[in-house]
Amino acid sequence: MATLTVAGVRVTHPEREVFGPGGPTKGEVAGYYEAVAPWMLPELSRRPLSLVRCPGGLGSACFFQKHHADTLGAHVKPVTLLEKDGDQARYIYVEDVAGVVELVQMNTLEFHPWGARIDDPDKPDRLIFDLDPAPGLSWEAVVAGARDIRARLGDAGLDSFVRTSGGKGLHVVAPFRRGPSWDGVKTFCEGVADAMVADAPDRYIAQASKSRREGLIFIDWLRNTRGATSVTGWSLRARDGATVAMPVRWDDIARLGSGAAFDWKKALKRARALRADPWAAMATLDQTLPR
Ligand code: ATP
Ligand code: MN
Ligand code: MN
Repeated sequence: MATLTVAGVRVTHPEREVFGPGGPTKGEVAGYYEAVAPWMLPELSRRPLSLVRCPGGLGSACFFQKHHADTLGAHVKPVTLLEKDGDQARYIYVEDVAGVVELVQMNTLEFHPWGARIDDPDKPDRLIFDLDPAPGLSWEAVVAGARDIRARLGDAGLDSFVRTSGGKGLHVVAPFRRGPSWDGVKTFCEGVADAMVADAPDRYIAQASKSRREGLIFIDWLRNTRGATSVTGWSLRARDGATVAMPVRWDDIARLGSGAAFDWKKALKRARALRADPWAAMATLDQTLPR
């Protein structure tokens, strides 16, 4: 098979085994994203986006890409943003399934949006806590950590949502009405993480240093800065087994047993069977970040 057309996009080398033998081929990756796009796009659409691209498959070097190039595809749009150094640069965004599949044609495996939208990149509209458990920690401990964050956000008036990372952990995400600066959001999240460590120093750490993490969950609040990203729901991970970052209901997490509970096949089945998006209320919740 020379080429395949998915969502109107030409996909070359569809037979290529990007995940190695037994994993999805490039054509199957394109079909996967076409199938999950209706669930994935609400979280991803019209946000600055970093990609993990693996032109040689998993076996060779993958790389993060945040800057736009015209060669990425007609539905892969540029948005001009200020860089840290004060220069302007064109970042990437998509808003439809064709844009997603064009990025797959360019060997994208993972999709990582900002916590802000392209029309106001300096005003975030969601925060994230990324729970990174030390090796060997039980799943029960990770689940307890996520519930702890949920309760603390609830005390602050924020409903939150949970997803598997497709790797070791869970992500807790809360939307809020735009207004606070990135610094405001980061300070709020740092406060939550610090309070968790103060209350349970035997369970949590809030510092990025790897050395002291043994037996603890790193409450990674540092994703809440301008330019930081987190993997989007339904994104494949460029990891063995083609795992998926999966939005779930709070009641589901205990029985999942792992942050890698969903692989691409389970995710495909779920996309077809799912009646309602477990994160549907993300779009309609009107809540404000406390000062
Ligand atoms: P895991 O559960 O295995 O930790 P994860 O996606 O949470 O999976 P992290 O390393 O904790 O992985 O990173 C959290 C998020 O930070 C990622 O989803 C990604 O968006 C962003 N990130 C991580 N590493 C990089 C990097 N090298 N460059 C850019 N962004 C990164
Ligand atoms: Mn993580
Ligand atoms: Mn992390």
